[in-house]
Amino acid sequence: MAQPQAARREIGAQAIDELRSAARGGVLCPGDEGYDAARSVFNSMIDRRPAAIVRCAGVADVRRALDFGVTHDLPVSIRCGGHGVPGFAVCEGGVMIDLSSMAGIRVDPQGRTARAEGGANWGQFDDETQAFGLATTGGLVRSTGIAGLTLAGGHGFLMRKFGLACDNLLSADVVTADGRFLKASASENPDLFWALRGGGGNFGIVTSFEYRLHPVGPILGGLLVYPFQEAHGVLKFYDGYSTQAPDELGVIAVLGTLPDGTKAVILPACYAGALDEGERVLRPLRSCAAPLADQIQPMPYTAVQSIIEQSNPRGFRNYWKTLYLRELSDEAIGILTEGYSRVPAPHSHVVVYTLGGAPARVPDDETAVASRDARHALIVIGMWQDPAEDEKQIRWVRELFEAMQPFSAGGFYPNYDADPSAERLAAAFGSEKYERLRAIKRKYDPGNIFRLNQNIRPAEG
Ligand SMILES: Cc1cc2nc3c(=O)[nH]c(=O)nc-3n(C[C@H](O)[C@H](O)[C@H](O)COP(=O)(O)OP(=O)(O)OC[C@H]3O[C@@H](n4cnc5c(N)ncnc54)[C@H](O)[C@@H]3O)c2cc1C
Repeated sequence: MAQPQAARREIGAQAIDELRSAARGGVLCPGDEGYDAARSVFNSMIDRRPAAIVRCAGVADVRRALDFGVTHDLPVSIRCGGHGVPGFAVCEGGVMIDLSSMAGIRVDPQGRTARAEGGANWGQFDDETQAFGLATTGGLVRSTGIAGLTLAGGHGFLMRKFGLACDNLLSADVVTADGRFLKASASENPDLFWALRGGGGNFGIVTSFEYRLHPVGPILGGLLVYPFQEAHGVLKFYDGYSTQAPDELGVIAVLGTLPDGTKAVILPACYAGALDEGERVLRPLRSCAAPLADQIQPMPYTAVQSIIEQSNPRGFRNYWKTLYLRELSDEAIGILTEGYSRVPAPHSHVVVYTLGGAPARVPDDETAVASRDARHALIVIGMWQDPAEDEKQIRWVRELFEAMQPFSAGGFYPNYDADPSAERLAAAFGSEKYERLRAIKRKYDPGNIFRLNQNIRPAEG
């Protein structure tokens, strides 16, 4: 058994030298300066050591890296922003295809579109598009990659007005498992385009995304903070208020811990419409209890996109579980608040991410995204630093997640889960969508080269 592995290592070492001289963006191997930084991702529990990290400078490097992995039968992982909590962006002993240097963004202000390379993050994207007063739905933390987020759907403050990130995708350039370079859009390879919008990183490496943009900003937004003692009443009010609010309002509810150690209900909000109308719309939320802090004010869109940055620091150990909520009933709120009162780490938090609006109006069969009619996504987020506490911290997340099962709408957003099982993933898509995804996977990646992800296995036969 030891022989083939030794042989593979030998071939790898020789070929890696060739790869080093061919790859424009550089190759990092164990022992190289910068290797450890390049293999680290948002979740510090992920400690995998790729045989080679290809820092891609362009499509040619992406194809070279993929060819190297396939030729040598090595695991292949794809990295954009490195925010995926399960850490699929990094592989053990294989080729990590790192697109994070490919972050070029070109805005067409007249056509209101932007083309962004497949390694850009939302901070870079927002900075470029806001220079023209434009934006599209994107994640709430600047360092989150556009690729991982868009390919699974993509939630953000603007989604109730403009749809999910993937609903704003016009086309994508894709390197497929066999090394071809395809365009996917409504008119070219439409089956691939359908699957890319919700099916995750299963179908190829996206080297650039073309998005539709919208005029955005200044917005009315910021943080609203209520005492934890008021959590029950605030969340009860929030449930009805947030789901009936106009599409211009993006709001989430967080049970969290303030820097001074006080537990609180924190409501990050963004009203992307006329400021005076926003004042009227937000008034009931700002007066549903006596706030500890009300920082809602007019600000640039890029500022509201940074307001939860500090509560999501890099380098922490992370374990997340998620489900779509059918309801936020008294009983559900009671379980959440009681669960959070026992939270074992101050950075751990519980998020209720409210959906509805434009995503719910997109016909279900238009994209691979499932559960468009969901009311809220619940995310139980464990964040801590000491590896000795892993078991305790993960137990807290799992217990609260399990206790909330009776209120589940049945599905979940794959990007918020640390370890979704294949069965749970299949059930979340529903059999019709899942089989359609499997058939497209078979067409574009029959050997399941792209399997380090929320994996959709190719259809058999
Ligand atoms: C702090 C934090 C905040 C978040 N906020 C939001 C939010 O507001 N809204 C939301 O919807 N989600 C949010 N998420 C979840 C986020 O959508 C996922 O973590 C997503 O995977 C991040 O994308 P990434 O490119 O950074 O991930 P990476 O870890 O780089 O990649 C994850 C996976 O995406 C695929 N992938 C990456 N790049 C490519 C590519 N170029 N081509 C093909 N496949 C690729 C691969 O399968 C890869 O394993 C958040 C996560 C974190 C940690």
